[in-house]
Amino acid sequence: MSEQQQSPHAPQQPHVYPVRDAIAANAWADQQHYAAMYQRSIDDPEGFWAEQARRLDWIKAPTTIKNTSFDRDSVEISWFADGELNAAANCLDRHLQHRGDQTAIIWEGDDPADSRHITYAELYQRTNQLANALKALGIGKGDTVTLYMPMIPEAAVAMLACARIGAVHSVIFGGFSPDAIAQRVKGAQSRLVITADESVRGGKHVPLKDNVDAALTREGTEVCENVLVVQRTGGDIDWHAGRDVWYHEVVEKQGLECPAEAMNAEDPLFILYTSGSTGAPKGLKHTTGGYLTYASLTHHYVFDYHAGEVFWCTADVGWVTGHSYLIYGPLLNGATTLMFEGVPTYPTHGRMGEIVDKHQVNILYTAPTAVRALMAHGDRVMDSSSRESLRLLGSAGEPINPEAWEWFYRVIGNERCPIVDTWWQTETGGIMIAPLPGATPLKPGSATRPFFGIKPAIMDSEGQQLEGEAEGNLVVLDSWPGQARSIWGDHERFVSTYFSTYDGVYFTGDGCRRDADGDYWITGRVDDVLNVSGHRMGTAEIESALVAHEAVAEAAVVGYPHAIKGQGIYIYVTLGDDAAPSEALKKELAQCMRRDLGSIAVPDIIQWAPSLPKTRSGKIMRRILRKIAANECDSLGDTSTLADPSVVDELIEQREIHS
Ligand code: ATP
Ligand code: MG
Repeated sequence: MSEQQQSPHAPQQPHVYPVRDAIAANAWADQQHYAAMYQRSIDDPEGFWAEQARRLDWIKAPTTIKNTSFDRDSVEISWFADGELNAAANCLDRHLQHRGDQTAIIWEGDDPADSRHITYAELYQRTNQLANALKALGIGKGDTVTLYMPMIPEAAVAMLACARIGAVHSVIFGGFSPDAIAQRVKGAQSRLVITADESVRGGKHVPLKDNVDAALTREGTEVCENVLVVQRTGGDIDWHAGRDVWYHEVVEKQGLECPAEAMNAEDPLFILYTSGSTGAPKGLKHTTGGYLTYASLTHHYVFDYHAGEVFWCTADVGWVTGHSYLIYGPLLNGATTLMFEGVPTYPTHGRMGEIVDKHQVNILYTAPTAVRALMAHGDRVMDSSSRESLRLLGSAGEPINPEAWEWFYRVIGNERCPIVDTWWQTETGGIMIAPLPGATPLKPGSATRPFFGIKPAIMDSEGQQLEGEAEGNLVVLDSWPGQARSIWGDHERFVSTYFSTYDGVYFTGDGCRRDADGDYWITGRVDDVLNVSGHRMGTAEIESALVAHEAVAEAAVVGYPHAIKGQGIYIYVTLGDDAAPSEALKKELAQCMRRDLGSIAVPDIIQWAPSLPKTRSGKIMRRILRKIAANECDSLGDTSTLADPSVVDELIEQREIHS
């Protein structure tokens, strides 16, 4: 390993949590089972995936399995190419016989007094009715439909109804602005938008329909012929006669049966945009057979899902986590999935735990941003709930700082529940690197081991594959069924983004370290790597060292131009409820960095940040912080995916002047 690749300082020995016997005994995979199955998946991908595809109901079973190439001149990703199936039929119809009366979706409203259970039979009927309504509106196989919806059961129904008739859904997060909606309607060439009058989050109403109205005045959106509107709040909206249609009016007239369209395995199932952390979001195209096989298999093994358990994924349906682990994975597996309309801290900071108790949730899958937000309020924040029903916890979306991991484990999971830290991307369709609860010892901050069929590798900047203990850029050597097939309407960008950095492998854009045990640690995004006096440093380790300090709730580190070091270290720190900013605290934080990471990691500038700029999915947007640190505040780049632009203004105003 060259000096360039080395981290500034060997990381401290992590605490290891061994697999609990009680969990291994009942798990779908224990250590040996995982090892054998993983080896099989790598030695014989064709055989392995042919078998796994049988998790699904096929109208025509596939006879060709894998046809893939990562060669940059002829990228080809095709799985189960001659198979035919329907996604909605797999999520619904095949469960009717044995679990028609079982709850498919538990819906918990923003208002804690509001909740509902929807059985598989009911979800089936509602999906068929909407599917018939879509047809009545002239939507058919191959059309794209944009969904801009609250977290209400109709969002799931809409996805499944599209899938039932072979229409391609493009779900966009219900917090986006009219411009962002317009871009995506145009990008997908959607003839129909499904929305609601308003959504309700944290007691506030968000004018979804108004935003759609505004979006559809933008150039390029003329393709949209109808807007289907769910009445959620009954709030005031404008009505465009001839274009707008009430959901309940058109749906209630429809028949309860709608035949499921036979789709080719490689027909598109959905378009989904990335979070926009590093640049302009990409609309990934996912197809049917491979995606569903992968979503179902990962949900089964990573969450060790057993029949009857209540599974709660807190992600919004507008993100890939919401697609694969709120809707498709759980429903494919006949699970009971919980959908929550609101925010985890409303009306009180204890809401998340209260929901767990109320619905006896067994598996809770959330994001580091939510964990850190709760942690900032101290250990007592969970006092209003027991969370005794929980068996397993999960995390996704960003590296989870070891400190946040430990807090999640201790306070939310009562030191009883394993945590699966799952690394994956919109592009990957499903979880790629994660522990299996019955098989993998846990290390706080590490996503640990590759899932079945996944061959991760670490490359240096010259394209040399590094063996053993190593740090560099994370790539994947061979295709897996859940992989995105293209960027919608821009295959060239797909090839150049993922297959041009290194030829013949999939480039993830993330930095990664593999330790001596073979466990993987995501070190942050390659775009965010710092280079201080020739030392490359990922963001995760530095930020984790800061979050480990009791005063710090959240931290973000970026490099800025520095005359001597090349890059200086600029740190933004958000303090917890009980801490106050002071020069003494800055000094103390700098000392902690020196102690934990070495003198190379001593920050040049620390700025107090009341909050950090985040994507709508809750991830820290370091590219904007980098601009502020470099004093390039008038060229912030694409800010359309920013959750709260005022956070940026505040940081600019208070930025630390440097020469
Ligand atoms: P964009 O691609 O537009 O910049 P994004 O990468 O944030 O946005 P997503 O596809 O939602 O969009 O996120 C995937 C990324 O999230 C991964 O590439 C990685 O950087 C980060 N990530 C997800 N899960 C984990 C995890 N468990 N540990 C570390 N990082 C993670
Ligand atoms: Mg990305």
